[in-house]
Amino acid sequence: MPTESTFLLAGLFLLLAALGWALGRFGEREEVESPQPLNVDYLKGLNFLLNEQTDQALEHFLKMVRVDDKTIETHFALGSLFRRRGEVDRAIRIHQNIIARPDLAAEQRDQALYSLAKDYQRAGLLDRAESVFLRLAEGSRYQVQALENLCRIYEQEKEWGKAIESGQRLEVLGGRSLALQIAHYYCELAEAAAAKGDYAAGRAYVKKAQTGRPRTLRGALTRAHIARDTGDFKTALKLYHRIIDESNYLIAETLPEIVAIYEQEGETRELERALRSLLQKQPGMRTLIAYSAIVNDLGGVPAIDECVERYMLDEPTLGEFVDLHRLSERTADSDAPALARIRQALCKLATTTPRYQCQECGFSSQRLLWQCPGCRNWETQRPASRVQFDTVLQHSIT
Ligand SMILES: [Zn+2]
Repeated sequence: MPTESTFLLAGLFLLLAALGWALGRFGEREEVESPQPLNVDYLKGLNFLLNEQTDQALEHFLKMVRVDDKTIETHFALGSLFRRRGEVDRAIRIHQNIIARPDLAAEQRDQALYSLAKDYQRAGLLDRAESVFLRLAEGSRYQVQALENLCRIYEQEKEWGKAIESGQRLEVLGGRSLALQIAHYYCELAEAAAAKGDYAAGRAYVKKAQTGRPRTLRGALTRAHIARDTGDFKTALKLYHRIIDESNYLIAETLPEIVAIYEQEGETRELERALRSLLQKQPGMRTLIAYSAIVNDLGGVPAIDECVERYMLDEPTLGEFVDLHRLSERTADSDAPALARIRQALCKLATTTPRYQCQECGFSSQRLLWQCPGCRNWETQRPASRVQFDTVLQHSIT
């Protein structure tokens, strides 16, 4: 199947023929006393393409058309086209061919090196891409782009120390703050240290994460988890509550922790009091608490159960299937099992639909992802606040 790049190569061969390109351009022909008719070379190239021998056609093109000031842009265009189409080996071949030119101007060499590094990156050859970007980051007009790509590579490789270093250099050179991104790099280090049981290092990294502005609540969340894991429940609770007070989007990450600590400490009354005080201060939290409780299957706490019940009664789609209002008018607890079953069903539905969605690109996932895999932005996901019945119904119909 001919591709866009096959057509471009074919077009180039035809153009060469039309322009009478042979005069001094055909390396092999230069030494021939009287030039051969051009058509032999371009027809050979076209023949390769007609036989779907793109690599041979490309080699033929590179041999015919030397890199010089007049042809270099054509080489770059072809290389970039191959990369865009995912034909990375061919892009690499073209860019290496440009770099091999001995009298290449410094600017063109940098452009070719940058293109080659992008090819390597696209091909997943991250070590090679890193080494070329590092060279460009030392001093070239591609310094900023090289550092941006280095950050991306280090994020992919989870080399957070190097990511911080590149991010900080980028802040200076690019003249813009990357405080949030760098804070997340420190949080990654903190989480990794805590996972290994090195809580002191974890706390130190969190401290660094919290020095920049804007701050990320992930620092406080990581610090709270460390306090929880080291048995310092008082600090953990204080931090979890502070996170909810500052912003409610981490409710699904904090509410189960809060409930677990109070219950573990046998302080269920305190839990009830804390939740009621929260609801009094922020009545809008009712839905988020209900949704978090459904998703995390939290039950047996009156303040939470009331939120869940009201959430179910207010859900219009659910009302079409079940007469919830009849259930709500129950005289005794006779219908409680029915409500519990609906709640269980909701929990199951919630686990089959995305719980978080990126505000930048719409990428959705079941668990919170600090860096969006779709657009690579940090902390752009926000939780869903209702079970997506429509999606569930669509899935079950199709
Ligand atoms: Zn995104």
